[in-house]
Amino acid sequence: MHDFYIGDEMKKQIENKALFDYAKKYAYDYMDGIFDRNVFPTQDDLRKLEYFCEPLPEISGNELDILKSLHEWGSPNTVAQTAGRYYGFVNGGSLPITLAVKWLADVWDQNSVLNITSPVLSKLEDICEKWLVRLFGLPEDTAAGLVCGSSNAAFCSLAAARNEILNRLGWSVRDKGLFAAPSIKVVLSEHAHATIFKALYLLGFGQENIVKVNADRQGRIIPDAIPTVDEKTILILQAGNVNSGAFDDFERIIKRQHSGWIHIDGAFGLWAAISQDKCHLTKGIERADSWSVDAHKTLNCPYDCGIVLCRSRDSLCSAMQASGSYIQYGTDRDEMLYTSDMSRRARAVELWAAIKYLGRKGIEELVDHLCDMAQYFAEKIEKQNFKVLNEVVFNQVLITCVNPEDNKRVLEKLQQSGDCWCGGTAWEGKPAIRVSICSWATTTKDIDKSVQAFCRAIE
Ligand SMILES: *Cc1c(COP(=O)(O)O)cnc(C)c1O
Repeated sequence: MHDFYIGDEMKKQIENKALFDYAKKYAYDYMDGIFDRNVFPTQDDLRKLEYFCEPLPEISGNELDILKSLHEWGSPNTVAQTAGRYYGFVNGGSLPITLAVKWLADVWDQNSVLNITSPVLSKLEDICEKWLVRLFGLPEDTAAGLVCGSSNAAFCSLAAARNEILNRLGWSVRDKGLFAAPSIKVVLSEHAHATIFKALYLLGFGQENIVKVNADRQGRIIPDAIPTVDEKTILILQAGNVNSGAFDDFERIIKRQHSGWIHIDGAFGLWAAISQDKCHLTKGIERADSWSVDAHKTLNCPYDCGIVLCRSRDSLCSAMQASGSYIQYGTDRDEMLYTSDMSRRARAVELWAAIKYLGRKGIEELVDHLCDMAQYFAEKIEKQNFKVLNEVVFNQVLITCVNPEDNKRVLEKLQQSGDCWCGGTAWEGKPAIRVSICSWATTTKDIDKSVQAFCRAIE
């Protein structure tokens, strides 16, 4: 028998809690500085990352030192995404309750794979499914699975779409594979998100199967330019353009009877359905066949939490089906039947807690708040030497200097300023600055401060 001295050490760590007390202390330190610190690491901070570059450790380290070095070198080299002045990508903040329940669930360390591996997660996921279907106003019995993000949600949806369409044509992908299968046409907007293309390529579609439809100046697919959705077509629409926040005109585009499959990428925008003020944007979404949406964006759950929603439970579950001699399916929800993963973490815990804490009313307030802040940002920045390029219908603001050539330089200065952080993009062929308001923590004060940073950057 080998000596397993580390095992005894680790038992002691669980018993005496010092390690966890320190983790809590460092976490509190981080929280305490979060609203005022630099949004992006300084050059001095970035140099600390070099401390991580050590040869492969040959022997066991000291647990308290490991934790401390992560806090000393790591914490300053995070971006302050959970505070109010991070506007990059569409990166959501996190609700305190979701962080707290995640801590507890981290201690549980459950595998959300089968009912039998964790009855509580199976139950919570089941409840989240019912609540989400109500919140978004989707057809009864729409199935939901929890994935790492919208990318994977789209992947699972489109796998279900592909298999279902081929099934209806008498072709079982499971039996016959894809290589000689009837061809399927995919129709999407020229503004479709990069992850949609990635999912399509992973699923065996290529450029020649994809028809790109023109979009209007806000980035909405042009309804009259869309070919008919026949029984061999997958149409992909968008609730929330990643640059402009624009929504496709679902009501006009989705006929009640279509023979193919319609998917909606609603990564951050699907949440508009919950706001009285914004639900006109998502009108008609319930006629689609599948939807992908993130909880880690607009809803402000911690990373990683995305949701695949599919009208036909059978289509999703049969596309995600797996079997093995040791897999023990039960009569209650077995989570692995809804996603492409097998083992996965306890995403349902945060999602359940976010919905239970906010309630429908609170989610509506959160969505409205993000939209109000985007509107406020747009109004303030236009009073300065900047122009807003999009109609601000949701939480996204596209900004340009009066002279678009200045955008690159201004963006660099902004990103280095530490006062706020925005990303760049191209809009109508010209460089632009993207502001995404995606954290509950953003206030008008944060925006005033950020607008000042824009003014300093252009000077
Ligand atoms: C963020 C985003 C995605 C990808 O979602 P992940 O959660 O990053 O996988 C897809 N589509 C749109 C419109 C997005 O904003």
